[in-house]
Amino acid sequence: MGSWKIESAKSSGFCFGVESAVKTAYSILEKYPGRKIYMLGEITHNETVVGDLLSSGMILVHEPGEVDEGSVVLIRAHGVTPQVMEELSSRNCEIIDCTCPFVKKIHTIVNKAGKEGHPVYITGTKGHPEVVGICGESTHPVTVISSLEECQALPNIESDSVWVSQTTFSSKVFQEICEFVQKKIANDQIFGTICYTTENRQRETADLAELSDVMIVIGSKTSSNTKKLYDICSDRCALTYLVGGAEEVLPLLPMWRERKVKRIGVTAGASTPVSIIREVIQTMSENGVNTNPESNDINFGDYIESIPQLRKNATVKGAITTCDSDFVYVDVHDKSEGKIPRSEFEPDFDFEAAVEEHKEIEVYVKSIRNTDMGKEIILSKSHVDFSKNKAEIEAAYENKTPVTVKITNVVKDGVIASYGGVDIYIHRTQLELNVVNDLEAYKGKT
Ligand code: SF4
Repeated sequence: MGSWKIESAKSSGFCFGVESAVKTAYSILEKYPGRKIYMLGEITHNETVVGDLLSSGMILVHEPGEVDEGSVVLIRAHGVTPQVMEELSSRNCEIIDCTCPFVKKIHTIVNKAGKEGHPVYITGTKGHPEVVGICGESTHPVTVISSLEECQALPNIESDSVWVSQTTFSSKVFQEICEFVQKKIANDQIFGTICYTTENRQRETADLAELSDVMIVIGSKTSSNTKKLYDICSDRCALTYLVGGAEEVLPLLPMWRERKVKRIGVTAGASTPVSIIREVIQTMSENGVNTNPESNDINFGDYIESIPQLRKNATVKGAITTCDSDFVYVDVHDKSEGKIPRSEFEPDFDFEAAVEEHKEIEVYVKSIRNTDMGKEIILSKSHVDFSKNKAEIEAAYENKTPVTVKITNVVKDGVIASYGGVDIYIHRTQLELNVVNDLEAYKGKT
């Protein structure tokens, strides 16, 4: 029996972009029973997730020309070129666009750069679907660079150029390339477009790898961000393994015991479902339980307990990541995102801008439950707004200061006014200096 401590990088597993795309995939299967639904490219680089969707009825294709006229087509988080979008539209397809907002932001930058005639450079993996989609946005040729060496070997870097990065590119290499470019040319515009979930994941993974005897990177060998994590770990920990699931870990256990491994670090790519991460950790934990009570080792139960958890009824801060017609999704630093009914936002709330800038908001955790598709976290914005606004109203009452309210309803002998969701009753004798008879005329006024 081995004896090891297992630690997991906090940001392991599905990122919000992939999680949102996978959720959408299941929801459209439910929404369009009997219709042909295609995913254009694998929705995530994970065989288990893709396999489950295929067995649920989704059809995998790789080219827009392969889909039937008038069918439903899901665009994955990597995004596609505008030309692909046009082809699908010309085939009268219903396009369900799950392009991650971080990727969309790069499309916008490159599209604008192309229109303004700037040469565009992308740091990323040539041929990666996300990079292909980004390149398609520019009307001018785009140069893709995968390493500092490649950048240094360029015969000429054009001035007045625009630089972006694939969202999952190594932040360290991107920084090195930027420093090199800034010394060489003037008038360049460099956009840091590596997504923050990738940066956090890479940083936490690097820290963990420094301290570990063994590093396990869980994910698919075809996943770009998983491979980056593997590279980061290999640079810092000699015993680094990229595994697809628990079955690949089992044969390694005897060697770890022989080498008296004490600390095992675990990280996972953005396309790895939490169920696979749990399975891998459970396998290592069950085979490495130390019977010595003096030991610091943990078992699977302890590990799961140690995953940072949101508490029900807590008020926390989160960043708006995406939204659909029913919900607004918020990253609340948990393994899963939380969602707020869209109806809780003011009618003039700018959802597009909030997603674009990952607007931070305070939310109340209404409920947390486990479902077949993972953890479901229901949040409320109006609950927080209500508490704040109520406190403001009370303070205004104490200090005898006026507040602006909107009259929303007429009731017996008065009206109901709203202050950010807090209802206030105003008697007809308090509306004006004289008694008001026509209360209806006040409805909608502030
Ligand atoms: S890794 Fe980042 S950019 Fe890519 S899908 Fe996930 S959140 Fe979006």
